[in-house]
Amino acid sequence: MSLETDQNLGDALAADRYGEGYFVSNYPPFSYWTDAAATRPASLGSTESRTRPLGIYVHIPFCRKRCHFCYFRVYTGYNAQMVEDYLGAVADEIALLIQQPALANRVPDFLYFGGGTPSYLSARQFEGFMGALQSVLDLTSLKEFTFECEPGTLSRGKLESLLAAGVGRLSLGVEHFDSTILDGNGRAHNEDDIYEAYQMARAVGFQQINIDLIAGLAGDTDSSWDDAVRRTLELQPESVTIYQLELPYNTTFHRESRESGRDLGEFPDWPTKRRWTDRAFERMESAGYYLASGYTAARGAATFVYRDALWEGADLMGVGVSAFSKIGDTHYQNDKHIDGYTTRVRAGVLPIMRSYEMTADEALIREVILQLKRGRLDRAAFRRNHGVDIGERFEEPLQRLCHHGWAQMDDTTIQLSRTALLQVDRVLPWFFRPEHIQGEQ
Ligand code: SF4
Repeated sequence: MSLETDQNLGDALAADRYGEGYFVSNYPPFSYWTDAAATRPASLGSTESRTRPLGIYVHIPFCRKRCHFCYFRVYTGYNAQMVEDYLGAVADEIALLIQQPALANRVPDFLYFGGGTPSYLSARQFEGFMGALQSVLDLTSLKEFTFECEPGTLSRGKLESLLAAGVGRLSLGVEHFDSTILDGNGRAHNEDDIYEAYQMARAVGFQQINIDLIAGLAGDTDSSWDDAVRRTLELQPESVTIYQLELPYNTTFHRESRESGRDLGEFPDWPTKRRWTDRAFERMESAGYYLASGYTAARGAATFVYRDALWEGADLMGVGVSAFSKIGDTHYQNDKHIDGYTTRVRAGVLPIMRSYEMTADEALIREVILQLKRGRLDRAAFRRNHGVDIGERFEEPLQRLCHHGWAQMDDTTIQLSRTALLQVDRVLPWFFRPEHIQGEQ
């Protein structure tokens, strides 16, 4: 999994919120989406959104083992045949989707493989699946192809296969550099795997590598966190994404705590995680990185088309079990169970489980809160795209931000302060419609 996509966060947050952390990954909140098992969202039958950029997200739900803090529905121990059956089902789903008026003959702008662990696929499985994808989709105009990797699953041959298929942005789920901490949190890889994977990726020719880190893992301390940041900087990745650990009820850590009485208070608390994140980004800024969002530092010409396009309203065709999509102003999510998902697509039925059709105002709020995660809103762009002056529409929360010194606003721009940006999720609910605030803070 990666913070970069948020594809599964809704489930996790619906399950529970531990402590004060509340990561806003979409709007309206998932708890307001409705069961759509028997219906096709109207936007799939419409051609209205065809002028928007289109991304494709492919969900690979397999992992070598389940991390103790993981709250996603992942599948471990799947053999080659089971993985290939799943990939066949995803290809079948794509074949169903590209018959829809909203998606027929559309040329995708970006492609993202997320999970789970996409690099769980062998080179042969990946190449076979890409062949199936290319036979039905025109992938010649991709501006970006991102692939999430777990360091211990990579080999030179697999990396060569990814590069040859056009992957340009590799996202490495490092999380920490200390093997004892990694092991204590149930990660499948260790420190040696990280260095080996990173060096192989550079040797093969990858020029854009993102490193994911997690602040707040069990056993982490001020000094071990600082060391992880130092080692990250030594490697000089093009971007670094920092996730502050959340522990919903459906994690192994929580289950163990219920069974054994383990005190979850031993985990770094939220002020500590915020302090560590702040300090890490400060060091990265000193090393020439800039804050590309509240979670990511980047350097040089690093880009992240997937994030920017989605936050600006692009369409997303998510395929695979539990994948999220947004076509036009309608969100929807696929069946969360792999058996249900594969059974439905094999029967020629779209595997959609729930959906939400946004009003124009909800679509506006969604873009405002997602773009606030980058720390800056362009008032003219919103006037152009939505016909709304966001300074007026959101006067009350913006005045609150300005009053706290957390934002500055003029006729053209709304700019968050660095302090606000690093805890942006705490203020985003201020922008929600009143009926969506209940129980969401
Ligand atoms: S790598 Fe770990 S955290 Fe990521 S999806 Fe797999 S089990 Fe969950």
